[in-house]
Amino acid sequence: MSEEDKPADVVHLRQLGPCPICKKTSTQKYHPFCSSHCANVDLGRWLNGVYTVPSQREENRDIEPETNE
Ligand SMILES: [Zn+2]
Repeated sequence: MSEEDKPADVVHLRQLGPCPICKKTSTQKYHPFCSSHCANVDLGRWLNGVYTVPSQREENRDIEPETNE
């Protein structure tokens, strides 16, 4: 993913909220994070399954019929 390929206007339309990792002000370059470090931290959490939503998933599986030939 290359941020430089995107027009600058698109980036400016976004609201830069606080970094979800350390709550510092996020930067456009690493949005929504403040730095590449926090972006990597977030990525690591995803890879470790920290961000899974078990309750929602199980509910959806209950509703979904298994035999749908
Ligand atoms: Zn941060």
